[in-house]
Amino acid sequence: MTDPLDLLISRRGTLRFLVGAAGSAASLPLLAWPVSARAGTLPASGTASKSALQYQDHPKGTSSCANCANFIPGKNPDAAGRCIIVAGDISPKGWCLAYAGNG
Ligand code: SF4
Repeated sequence: MTDPLDLLISRRGTLRFLVGAAGSAASLPLLAWPVSARAGTLPASGTASKSALQYQDHPKGTSSCANCANFIPGKNPDAAGRCIIVAGDISPKGWCLAYAGNG
């Protein structure tokens, strides 16, 4: 079974590559690159430190990583995931200053 994180990274890599390739005829030879090679150049998570954004491993009220637009879910709803802002494993029950509510 495909890891959802790998699938998301792969789709982002493909989209970024296609947008870039469409803008330059010189990049057409790059179309021969395998998708896995392109996806491998993308960061798996953000780079901000947990302490800088006051990350905590518990929700703030009803706000949590699980309902944040920056969250990349793990393999199941209780598993640690990733964040496009904060580095490292992120609990779906966590929260930080960069929280972006999903609705
Ligand atoms: S609340 Fe913070 S750590 Fe959690 S997913 Fe959102 S931005 Fe990332």
